[in-house]
Amino acid sequence: MVPTQFSVLIVGAGPVGLVLAWRLTKAGIAVRVLEREPILEPMLRSSTWHPPTLDMLVEDGLTKVLHRAGRITPTWQIRLHETGERAEFDLSLIADATRHPWRLQCDQAVLVRELEARLCAIDASIVRRGAHVVGVGQAAHGAFVDWVPTPLDTRSVDTETRPSGPSVREHASIVVGCDGARSMVRDAIGASFEGTLYPETTVLVTTPFAFEDHLSGLSGINYVWAPDGTYSLLRLADVWRVSLHPAEDESIEAAQHPRRIAERLAAITPAAAGAPIGEMRPYRVHQRLASHWQRGRLALAGDAAHLNNPKGGMGMNGGIHDAFELSDALAEIAAGASLERLERYERRRLPVARDDIIAQADQNRTRMWEPSLDGRRKLLANLQALAADPVRCRAHLLRTSMIDGLRRSKTLA
Ligand SMILES: Cc1cc2nc3c(=O)[nH]c(=O)nc-3n(C[C@H](O)[C@H](O)[C@H](O)COP(=O)(O)OP(=O)(O)OC[C@H]3O[C@@H](n4cnc5c(N)ncnc54)[C@H](O)[C@@H]3O)c2cc1C
Repeated sequence: MVPTQFSVLIVGAGPVGLVLAWRLTKAGIAVRVLEREPILEPMLRSSTWHPPTLDMLVEDGLTKVLHRAGRITPTWQIRLHETGERAEFDLSLIADATRHPWRLQCDQAVLVRELEARLCAIDASIVRRGAHVVGVGQAAHGAFVDWVPTPLDTRSVDTETRPSGPSVREHASIVVGCDGARSMVRDAIGASFEGTLYPETTVLVTTPFAFEDHLSGLSGINYVWAPDGTYSLLRLADVWRVSLHPAEDESIEAAQHPRRIAERLAAITPAAAGAPIGEMRPYRVHQRLASHWQRGRLALAGDAAHLNNPKGGMGMNGGIHDAFELSDALAEIAAGASLERLERYERRRLPVARDDIIAQADQNRTRMWEPSLDGRRKLLANLQALAADPVRCRAHLLRTSMIDGLRRSKTLA
């Protein structure tokens, strides 16, 4: 079936799919978002917002919404647990390159909820929750998806498994996969997703315990070398998010036992032993890149196209940057440009995902897994020298704040 007007179907109502839907709606393009989950599960994932993402979301006051719910962190640091020695990076050095020279710590769900409510207020049928996409295809004049209603009681159903029942087919001019790591649209495009699964498991713990009163000179974002590995402390509006790693010979189950979590928190500072725990969840991380991000009338953005280690907080931010570039491309196509404009989208964003986001996140991880105290001291001395040199430090902050990559992508034809 040939759509009567230019329209875009987005699979996935995560932050990337909804930013794309919001941008396209503002450009006057008909949009529909299909989301497998019947409701948004309260589960902390991304919390770091980088300066250029905050700049992009200023329109319509979205950055204000995030700031109201989050916490500004003007500096971030890498520190040695034993002595508290640290290298601290001050984002005011890049104040001439951004309206928001800080990182913001705020749950990604705040943006998801806000955008979904705004889209719903425009037209309640734009976002369809409980629609599990089970098939994707394209022909010369249009693309389509087949979806099946997700059973309402998702607790008894594995959402990764295809639900049974008859499917509904919907058509559009373009289908975009913002459907995360296991993207079905990526499979339909025929892209490979080469990369690796990192060996370590991370246990995410949130607690209102006031680490700032017990560890001197903490920033809002702290990556720490500890005697038994590494941990990080990120401060949101009302909780600290602690990332712990099980010991080498420890099972994931044992690492999640409340007594063990209490021991690990006490190892950070003894007073934290009895700290109340909010969320607690183990996860593993991949680094992967889709071999191509578009074919004909199908395209990818966000985790569907690239996955990286969360150290440095760049996955969601990079996905939102994809959504901005892709919405510009789709607006041009809606105005009459050829589908080849999608190839330029890929040429602009794929190298940044590979060379900036994935590579930088991998470097951040490698640094924090340095095993020897000697090696850590050398790394720390280098980082302290970098932080003390305004010219080199500014260059480092432009790169780690994702400004360099974005600037470069705009120059790629
Ligand atoms: C613990 C953790 C911490 C992180 N911290 C950070 C951070 O600080 N900063 C940062 O930038 N990034 C961070 N990330 C990464 C960030 O969470 C992701 O990059 C981001 O969620 C990607 O957004 P997305 O919209 O592309 O995909 P997702 O958020 O995964 O959304 C995909 C959506 O598609 C839906 N979907 C999937 N398949 C189908 C289907 N067949 N039919 C219909 N719907 C479907 C899913 O239900 C989901 O809602 C972190 C990740 C984790 C796990």
